[in-house]
Amino acid sequence: MSEVKLDDLVSLTKRRGFIFPGSSVYGGLSGTWDYGPLGVKLKDNFINLWKYFFVDSREDIYMVDAAIIMNKKVWQASGHVDTFNDPLVECKKCHSRFRADKIDLSHCLVCGEKNSFTEPKNFNLMFSTSIGPIGDGVGEVTIDRAELEKILANNKDSKISLKTDNENLVYLRPETAQGIFVNFKNVVDSFYPNIPFGIAQHGKAFRNEISPRDFIFRSREFEQLEIEYFINPEQWQEKFEMWINLIHQWFNLIGLPAGMITDKEIDGADRAHYSKRTVDFEFDFPIGKEELMGLAYRTDFDLRNIEMFSKKSMEYKPKDGSASFVPHVIEPSFGVERFILAILSSAYKQDEINGEKRVYLDLPFKLSPIKAIFGPLVRNKSEIVDLSKKIFKEIKSEITDILWDDSNNIGKRYRRADEIGTPFCITVDFQSLEDNMVTVRDRNTTIQTRVALDKLSDYLKKQF
Ligand code: ATP
Repeated sequence: MSEVKLDDLVSLTKRRGFIFPGSSVYGGLSGTWDYGPLGVKLKDNFINLWKYFFVDSREDIYMVDAAIIMNKKVWQASGHVDTFNDPLVECKKCHSRFRADKIDLSHCLVCGEKNSFTEPKNFNLMFSTSIGPIGDGVGEVTIDRAELEKILANNKDSKISLKTDNENLVYLRPETAQGIFVNFKNVVDSFYPNIPFGIAQHGKAFRNEISPRDFIFRSREFEQLEIEYFINPEQWQEKFEMWINLIHQWFNLIGLPAGMITDKEIDGADRAHYSKRTVDFEFDFPIGKEELMGLAYRTDFDLRNIEMFSKKSMEYKPKDGSASFVPHVIEPSFGVERFILAILSSAYKQDEINGEKRVYLDLPFKLSPIKAIFGPLVRNKSEIVDLSKKIFKEIKSEITDILWDDSNNIGKRYRRADEIGTPFCITVDFQSLEDNMVTVRDRNTTIQTRVALDKLSDYLKKQF
């Protein structure tokens, strides 16, 4: 179990400018979060490293960037319209709503009423909206369709008719994967990849979660990094193992301790009906052991459904002249927010330096939003300030993620650097004027080293 409490992380990330509650100035909007200057950097570093590891350093995976709003047939073909549901229950006393499979149904968590819940009903998690001009939006009312049908059934003279198909209806995508499947043929026909090959996508996904909770762990708007790895079905077992292996290499690269990760094989009964094998990778979050990401063998389910709904062939013709076939897929699905939470909670450390307690984030250098904090020891000595500015400009032109901090209290400077996971603090002092050296303090050990100015950039770059 993670050592840090969720509340401590929420508070640190807000105080230091990583993550804020969404729309907080207006009292917030449940299930949404905004990233501040350091959060953006951390997330970008994570995503860029992911793109390097899974796409750019390989020869078999390519990226697409599909529109978030897609033709609603995408979600009919994928099964989301009919089956992307969670079981919803409502307390009959206080009308609070919950996800039935995530709570103890013996009493209401809000009002405490015993055995007060309605029967679970399916609640579709997709957000819907309309495309194109459908009225001026003024004075429109939202009516439950089933209620309206009841009213109309009792009012035979009514001139109101209900459309069976709303042409303007569209959904915000609840996963990025379908944006890959609908572009499968485009990529094959324009790019001619050799099978096996993967198509990756990074972007936002939206789910109208019944009870968003646990900080960014379950949000209504989040980011995914997904890969559909297209294979010949004969190879599925071998390629599935390859992916388990790659995913563990990835955990290691971003510094997640192996002891905090569990590979959970999902039983047939709990697996999505189209999946022949699913492994969930669970992490010891501050809220307990929960799903960090998933790996699924989705067979040819999606491409076959697209064939059925679009009447277009999704066959792949191998370049060696062998028979065409509809590829199968192995899908690793990474949730950015859950990784950010895992990275922050495993990096959060507390210790004591010279009798003083401190908190620091032991972030890997590659992920740290800021690589070094730089400043003069004092602000009132112009030679030191001038020299500092000169060196800062030079270093910043080579390593951009360096922050100027000239607050006079060096202790405060260090505390901030530690809490935002900055590996180095560089200080220019009186001695620097004599010996052309600066003091470099290491975040984890707090050891200070004198480094010559002409070696400073190499000293920092060594860490990349
Ligand atoms: P859960 O069972 O926790 O609801 P899921 O099995 O529905 O998750 P998938 O549909 O497999 O999740 O989505 C793939 C990945 O997307 C998840 O492993 C997770 O990392 C991320 N994810 C899914 N839902 C959310 C959410 N509401 N907030 C943040 N990340 C999410």
